[in-house]
Order: sequence, then structure tokens, then C-alpha cells
Amino acid sequence: MRYVYAFEEGNKDLKDLLGGKGANLAEMTNLGLPVPPGFTITTEACRAYLHDKRLPDGLDEQIDARLTALEERIGRRLGDAADPLLVSVRSGAKFSMPGMMETVLNVGLNDESVHGLAAQGGERFAWDSYRRLIQMFGATVCDVPAADFAAALDELKHRRGTRDDLGLDADDLRTLVGTYKKVFAEHTGRDFPQEPREQLRLAILAVFDSWNADRAVLYRRQERIPADLGTAVNVVAMVFGNLGPDSGTGVAFTRDPGTGAQGVYGDYLANAQGEDVVAGIRNTVPLQELERLDKTSYDELLRIMARLEEHYRDLCDIEFTVERGKLWMLQTRVGKRTAAAAFTIAAQLVDEGVIDLDEAVRRVSGAQLGQLMFPRFDLSGAREELTRAVGASPGAAVGAAVFDARRAIELAERGEAVILVRRETNPDDLGGMIAAQGILTSRGGKTSHAAVVARGMGKTCVCGADDLEVGTDSFTVNGRRIAEGDTISIDGTTGRVYAGQVPVEPSSVVRYFEGTFEGDDPLVTAVDRLMRHADSRRRLRIRANADTGGDAARARRFGAEGIGLCRTEHMFLGDRRELVEKLILAEGLPEREAALAALLPLQRADFVELFRAMDDLPVTVRLIDPPLHEFLPSLTDLAVRVAVAGERGEDAGRERQLLAAVQRMHEQNPMLGLRGVRLGLVVPGLFAMQVRAIAEAAVEVTRAGGTARPEIMVPLVGAVQELETVRAEAERILADVIGDSGVAVAIGTMIEVPRAALTAGQLAEAAEFFSFGTNDLTQMAWGFSRDDVEGAFFWRYLELGIFGISPFESLDADGVGRLVRIASEEGRAARPGLKIGVCGEHGGDPDSVHFFHQVGLDYVSCSPFRVPIARLEAGRAAI
Ligand code: PEP
Ligand code: MG
Repeated sequence: MRYVYAFEEGNKDLKDLLGGKGANLAEMTNLGLPVPPGFTITTEACRAYLHDKRLPDGLDEQIDARLTALEERIGRRLGDAADPLLVSVRSGAKFSMPGMMETVLNVGLNDESVHGLAAQGGERFAWDSYRRLIQMFGATVCDVPAADFAAALDELKHRRGTRDDLGLDADDLRTLVGTYKKVFAEHTGRDFPQEPREQLRLAILAVFDSWNADRAVLYRRQERIPADLGTAVNVVAMVFGNLGPDSGTGVAFTRDPGTGAQGVYGDYLANAQGEDVVAGIRNTVPLQELERLDKTSYDELLRIMARLEEHYRDLCDIEFTVERGKLWMLQTRVGKRTAAAAFTIAAQLVDEGVIDLDEAVRRVSGAQLGQLMFPRFDLSGAREELTRAVGASPGAAVGAAVFDARRAIELAERGEAVILVRRETNPDDLGGMIAAQGILTSRGGKTSHAAVVARGMGKTCVCGADDLEVGTDSFTVNGRRIAEGDTISIDGTTGRVYAGQVPVEPSSVVRYFEGTFEGDDPLVTAVDRLMRHADSRRRLRIRANADTGGDAARARRFGAEGIGLCRTEHMFLGDRRELVEKLILAEGLPEREAALAALLPLQRADFVELFRAMDDLPVTVRLIDPPLHEFLPSLTDLAVRVAVAGERGEDAGRERQLLAAVQRMHEQNPMLGLRGVRLGLVVPGLFAMQVRAIAEAAVEVTRAGGTARPEIMVPLVGAVQELETVRAEAERILADVIGDSGVAVAIGTMIEVPRAALTAGQLAEAAEFFSFGTNDLTQMAWGFSRDDVEGAFFWRYLELGIFGISPFESLDADGVGRLVRIASEEGRAARPGLKIGVCGEHGGDPDSVHFFHQVGLDYVSCSPFRVPIARLEAGRAAI
């Protein structure tokens, strides 16, 4: 097995084998750029070592052979006493993991070769290089606390009365080497290794081991980098930026990675080695300063950067060193950038003829677009952070803390901005959530009620802030009390909560989607161009989940091509709750019919609003889904009220009646109980009223000159017989209402129960369309209660790597996705042309959108704010 490659033998496409750094060093070498010679030990060697806990057979010999070739080429031997070759040993995985892994510089120095080095570069330089080796080798290879070396250095500087490393002379540094060696010996129980080849071997092992260091494991988990890739190791001949004022080191970008603006950006530090820049030991100067210091090197650097951009066809970042006026390239890669820069640079490169629009759309992501859509806090000023919790729905919201939904509505009606703070929210809080600028809860995770509803509304939400003690009129956190009316600021992206008002910057990209952006902004122009192109390429249609005319209109402005889910139960809240109560408590047919008759015109008006906002676009209205007792007060509240009234001798007839109803309807597992189609089959007249309201609204809109395209959707169906029963009644009503008005109404089903997915062929006989409710489908496929699990134990599952992301956030392609595939295939086999969409939260998740594209669905439906993200990802999926 071949484990070692000289730079001349690799290229940029070998990242799997040589890691990103090794592959790019090879590429630059082959481009003829000035790269110090060296070689790369492959990720395969690392994997073999981590697996067998020993270096694979033959690796040492291969390293020896490469090292000999390197020595012959340079004309020096590693660690030679008279004229030593020194090398750096650097990690480099396939994906960059900045600062996560290890580097050891100046390998090859020892008590002898330090004199040889001094003969080449001076005493001060040689002793400085030696102390750096002991420090880096000690910390990286032998786990000597870095702080102990830092303390020794600080103590020496203090004694010499200097703050700058440059204030130490050769003798000082020789003394420091002595001190460092003592520190090393104290911690390791052995002397600092003098044998250069042993230093090299141990440094390589340390780099391999660093793959499994805690911080690297954590970083990989966050960035979703597979745990089994391993890292390559680059052994590179040292060049020195610390040889004097004509030497130095720097980092540079070929464009501004913050904004995407054209031009060269970077920092330079004269007379220093690379880690000084990273550690921020001395202040760097802007790269342009190098032009003044060393024009030849600067001009060459600019030429090389232009060459690299042309070659990689993208923004590159580089590390370089100038050694006595000679420029060396130490690293390059396609550089990381902010979301704004990603869009701007992609559009620039199209203008420059470097890439086409397909490539430009591939280079941006829905997640980046999402980041650009939220207002943000301007954190340049002072602020007081109270806590950090789960950023559940992004954005920056500021307002007075309130602890009760009714109070939130009251204050909002007076024009005050409020943040609703609750332990957790429930459907009763909906009005308050709508009225508030943002929601903060102390319990529940990303799929809690607060999180899901807030995301649906595009409202900022921070949840699971468990160090908050939420009372009825204040909360306390770490001893600080925030009372009702006190201003707080919450950041739904980072999960941070601040006391007081942090200033907010609005998003220009949202104003662009809203159609209210004016002026000239390269970012907005870039977003516009790439969105148009994504739209022209995508096959998936994009709809929105919306329940009001306002939401529907906004969704349409954002590019929605219809409504994929109107949750009608949201229309039964607020003032209408009383009517629903009457329906639930009705003792006979006349009473029930009266309650339904009172609801009918209200529902009709709701649908008229929706059909108007979505004129000539499909609107999927789902018949009522949740258990009815959700519309009644809580059992505990009622029981208390009845008891109190009883003690006071007051008449509590109505409340007693409500309590009896709640007790009657109580379910141990309401999510698996009387809800969805089951409710429609058990409560006579309920679905019929809704169907009638939909049909009447469609006729009204059509008669007024519009075009209503309703689709009636039945929730929670598990058996075709359920659907057939509802369908038969609905068809009777539709025939009755629609008459010759020309309105066409489709009837279809949600697929939310695994049995529905597995009997999709039968369901398709009675359904003109399917819509996957992937929230419930995930809940029931995994057996995870969607309201409970995230806060309860998902953290542990994520920690153990059982899944990389919550299956409620991003579709579990292997399991739930398989159900989606089966149902799509069998549904279409039974009814060719069956329209299929998805309306669960996953409809707006980038990875899931790609999956739905692959399965061949017709549309995804998501919250209005995620519509542009879904449009972009659907375009990317099709390219
Ligand atoms: C679903 O289950 O995915 C769905 C869209 O319905 P709801 O979230 O209202 O249960
Ligand atoms: Mg559902």
C-alpha cells in the first residue's frame, strides 16, 4: 500500500486521500508556484493507524525514502548539526477544520543543530526557533499544558521589562529553552527528544491522534463532517518568516470574504512565524503594507493570487511566508465566506465570465439565503447577555417582557412591542404569540409548540432557556430579575437573550422579496439574479402553509405558487372558541346544528380571503385535525375554578359542564386519539360544515370574477374506508353547492400515518392528491412524541451520533423517506398523474427539498418565510 506522496505527485482532486491542504499544496506545486518541497502522508495511513492503534506496515520505510529524497533535493539532512533541514508537520483533513487539529514547526532542532541553524540565521533566530519547537511539540505531542510554557515566557518578558517577544535577545531565548526543557521533563518524565527522526515520528502520530481530540470530534459533529475520514499529514521543508525585518508571514483573500467586494484583503506580520498571526501575539498590518516593505514580493503575491483565482474559479484564501525577500506559498484553498459574500461573489464570477449561472446557483445555499432574511442585532455596542438557549426560529426581536398571552395582545394593541415569555406555550397562547415580536420559553426544544408555531409565523423564538425561572409577572436568571414591562432582546439565530434594547438592522433581502426595496445594493442584485435562475431550473413547485389572507398574500409575494396547507383549526381560536365550546357541549341535534350554523359564515369568510389572495392558484384546505378538547380550558384550571366557586357558594354551572366535557374527552395519548379524520367520522356535521364553507366561498369568489381552486384534504387517514366515507359525504355537499358555477374541487388525503403510506395504492383510488404530513409521519414512524422528545433526550442522541440532526428538522431519508418513496410509487401506480406534495416542516428544509425532488414529488409546501429558501434549493436540486 502506498501511503506517502511527494507534492509533485498529487493534485487538487485528491482531497479524500491527501486532505485539503495536501491536495492544494500539490496543485500549487504543479502550477509552478513557489511551494516549499515536501510530502503528504495519506488519510488511509491515518485510518489504518486509528483502527489498529499502530502505524501500518511499511509506513516508516516510505517516510524514510521520501525524507531522503527531500534531503537530497535540498542538500541538507534533517537535524544535521552543521546545516540542518527543519520541517513542519501539519494536519490536513478532507474538510477544513480550522484550529481543530495540530501543527508542529521546526522539527529537527536539538541541542546540536541549534548551533548549525545559528550559523545560517543568527543566534537569536536559532534559539527562538528551538524554543518554539519545544513549546509546540510539548503541547501537541506530549500534552504539556500550553499555559505552563506561556507562563514561563511571560515571566521572562516581565523580568526583561518588555511586552514584545522581539524585546528578548539570543541569551534570553537560550535561557528560555532551558526553562522549557525543564517544563517538558517535569510533565513527561523524560528529556526533550533529541533524535530528529524520533521527533518527526512522534509529531506524525500526534497529528493522527488529534483527529479524535474532543474539540475535533465536537467540531465535526456540528459541521456534519463524517467521523471516519481521518486526516492526512503534510511534512514540509521549513521556510522562515522570523529571520529579520526582510521576512514575515501573512494570510490573504482574493476578495473580501465578509462582503464579497473585489480586491485583495489580508494581514501581514513582519519578522514572525505563522502561529504568531493566529495567536494574535502582535498586531498585524494590512496586506497593502507589504507593498511598501517589499514591493517585489508584494507584486509576486498579487500575481499568484490572480492566478489562483483563475485556476480555482473562486475566492481563494492563502497563507504565505516571505523569507529574506523570497515569497513562499504555504497553503491555499477555496475560502470560507459569509452568506452575503457567497451570493455577491457568485454573481460577480458570472459577470466575469468565470462560471455560468448554474454553477453560481450551486455555490449558494438555502441556509445562506435564510441567514440573509432575518433582521440582526447590531452588536457593536455594549450589551448585557442574560443567557444562551436554543435558537428555535431566527431573527432579532426586542420588546417588553410579558408573561401572559392576553396581556401581550393588550399591550400590542396599544402599539407596544412585546416579547412573550412562558415556561412553554400551548394553543391558548396563539393570540399572544401573534401579537408578540418574539417568544422566549424556558422549556422545550426545536419541535416544541413554541418553536414550530413561531417558525410557521416567521417569528423570532428562543426556547429551552432552562436557567430561566419563569413566574407570572417576572423571570429570574442567574440572580437577575426581569419584570413585566422590562425590555429584553432575543436572538433566534444564536439563542442569546439580552437585557435591554439591542439595536436591530432590517434585512434588505426581505424588503426585496416584499417588493419594497429601493436603491442599489450588489447583494440584492445578486440574490435577484440567482433566484430567477433557480426558478427557471426547478421542477418542484413551491407552496406555502398559510391560514390567513395576510399570510397567503405575503407568501405569494415571496413566490409561493399556491397554499399546500391551511390548518383550519387555527381558525377556531380567539373569539370563536366559544362557538366551538358550544359545539362540543351540545346536548342534542338542534344545539349542535345551531353551533355549526354559527361557525359556517365565519369559516366561509376565511376561505374567501384565502381564495382571493391566491387567485387562480391551488389552495389546499385541511379539515380540522387536533382533538377537540384542545379548544377547551385545561383540566387543572377548570377543576380549580369549579372547586373555588364551590367553596364560595357561587354558581359554576357552565364551568362544571365544561369540566365534565374535558373529563369525558380526556385521552392518555391525544396525538394518537380522537383527531383528524376520526373526529370527522365521530362528530356529525363538523366536516360537512367545513366542506360547505369551502364550496360556498369558492362559488362566491368565482361569481365575483375570480378563480378559486380549492383542494380539500383529509388529515390522519390510515384506511381507505375512512377516506371513502368522508369523500362520499363531501361529494354530496359539493354537488349541492357548486351546481353549475364551474368551480372544480379536488379531494385528497394527507399521508401521516405509516399505514397510509403502506396502503397508498388503495388510498389513491379515493384520493386525487396526496400530501405528506412529515411531522406526524416522523412522529409515528419513529414513535417519537413530537412535542416532548427534543428537550427530553435528543441531545443525547445527537451526542451519540444516532442521528446528526433531529428527524423533525430534516427528513430521515432512510426510514421516513422510504415510506414517502413507497407511497409515491404505489400511489402513482394506482392513479397515474396523482398529484403529490409535502406540507410538514420538512417542506422548507434544504436537504429534505433535495430528497423530495429526487423522489419526484410535484411540490413542497412550507411557511411563507421559507418559500424563497425552498425555491432556491429546488433549483439547486434540479441543476
Ligand atoms: C404534519 O403532520 O406534517 C402536518 C403538516 O400536520 P400538523 O403539523 O398540523 O400535524
Ligand atoms: Mg399532522
